This record gives sequence, C-alpha cells and structure tokens, in this order.
Amino acid sequence: MEASKLFDNHNHTRHFSPDGEQTLDELLQDAQSRGLKGLALTEHFDKDVRSGEPFPAVSEYGQPAAPGEWVFDLQAYHGCLMQAQEKLEREGSRLKLTKGIEVGYLPYQQPTVWRYLAGFNFDAVIASIHCVDNKDIYFFQDAYRDGARAAYDKYLDLIIQMLEEPCDFDIVGHFDYVTRYAPGAYQRMNYQDHSERLDRMFRLMIQSGKSLEINTRTRYRLLDKTGTDIDLQDPAIIRRYLELGGELISLSSDSHEDHNNGRFLAETADWLYSLGVRWLCHFEARKAVMDPLD
Ligand SMILES: [Zn+2]
Ligand SMILES: [Zn+2]
Repeated sequence: MEASKLFDNHNHTRHFSPDGEQTLDELLQDAQSRGLKGLALTEHFDKDVRSGEPFPAVSEYGQPAAPGEWVFDLQAYHGCLMQAQEKLEREGSRLKLTKGIEVGYLPYQQPTVWRYLAGFNFDAVIASIHCVDNKDIYFFQDAYRDGARAAYDKYLDLIIQMLEEPCDFDIVGHFDYVTRYAPGAYQRMNYQDHSERLDRMFRLMIQSGKSLEINTRTRYRLLDKTGTDIDLQDPAIIRRYLELGGELISLSSDSHEDHNNGRFLAETADWLYSLGVRWLCHFEARKAVMDPLD
C-alpha cells in the first residue's frame, strides 16, 4: 500500500508522555520520510496514575499534575501543536498533523474525565484500557495469574464496560494490548476464544460510531526484542467486525521512539485490504474522515 494513503492515528513524544522517547521534530521527520498522509499526536492522559497504579483524586482537574502522574499541560500541548502545524504549512508540507489524546480509562472517573476534556478541542480522542484490576499491565503481571486467556477476557470486559458508559471518545485503542505483556511466548487473541465478548464489543462500537484501532506496536516490539515477526491479528476478528457492519478502522503505530512512526502500516493496510477493507479513517474535529485504500 502506498504510504500517501495512510494516516498514523496514535503517536507519543517525550515532551508530554512520560514513556515517550522521541521529539516532535523526529516524529514529523519520520512521517515525512515515510511519505504518510498524516499523523495524530496522542499523548498519554492517565489521570491519577503513577508508576502504573491509580491514586484516586491525586490531583484536581485543571490543576498541575501530581509528581509522577501521567498527565500533561493541555494548554502547552495546544500551543506546541499549533506551532508545529504552522511550521508544516510554512514549509509547504502535505503532511497533516492533528491534535489527539490517548485517555486511559478508569471506571471511577466516569463521566467527569470526558466533561473536562470536552473543553480542549481535540481532533481525535483515543480511549484505552491500560489498567486491569487497577494495575497497568505494562508494570504488573497480576492480571495474568489465571492464564492469558482469562486475562484477555477481563481486558475485553473492560472495553465493553467503557463502551456501555457515556464515554466521549472516537477510537477504541489497542483492543489487543493485553497480548503484548502476557508472560511467555506470544499468544495471539483468537476470535473463537473470545467470540461473545468481541461480538458485544463490535456491536457497541458500531452503534456509537467508534473506530477500531489496529495497532502495530506489539508486532514491532516483539520483532525488535526477539527477532521473531508474529502473524498479524487473527483475520477472523476483522472479518467478524466487517460482517457485523463495522466501517471505521484506524491504523496506528503507537510510536514512542524515533523510527517507529508508520512502522508496519503499509503491510497491515495490505492485509486489511485482502480481508475486504476498502477504507480506513482518521479524525478531524472529532469527525471521522474516510481514507480510501483504492
Ligand atoms: Zn496505550
Ligand atoms: Zn499509546
């Protein structure tokens, strides 16, 4: 797939995300040298979370972050993005840069967190589950104590819960994030093992116009760490989403480091095309913009 058809919906930098390593300049250079159509900056907003655990109300909305809290200054973020957008325009670049955010869902913060964020004019809001049983699975392995399959079920249950609440977001972030940190060899999430939950998730997403993110970070992390290139996600998951009437799919590299922006997007788009996907989408001013693959 030509890169010029592809939009990377999920990226972090070191300026605003505690785990971001790349600068915004490096990120934009990557996207330009890859020839992408555009990208969204989507820094982490994990209110109350420090070192992978929530401490309820550790800071007030709109007040400075508590030490180590995974939130950032939204006004400064806006200014930084405006500057970068103006620079791209001045340089005559065709690359589109949008203002997004990745919100870590925690049940007790509903619906306050969405009311607060509504005042900041984002293009795209990703909602992601990072914490299972109140612990970020990047830091803690507790969620896997009953095996990978039980952890995957729990993770999908949290996405379903998030979709059943009046949460104001556009994209369901990395539905298979839970596979990334499972102990032992990589275990793919298969449709047949989780069919009821995936069906429920897809139906809720379709009803409320939420987009399905296909996130390539698990694939390149594993490749860089072990030299093994895993299969793409289970094609049965995509086929079922399409069968139920799903039309919104957003591709993401979830880049945090230099050179990962746009990584595996073209291959993944080819794979989706082979399964019958003809449009991807990104968001501008909270509206889905369809990007044709043909
Ligand atoms: Zn995430
Ligand atoms: Zn992310």
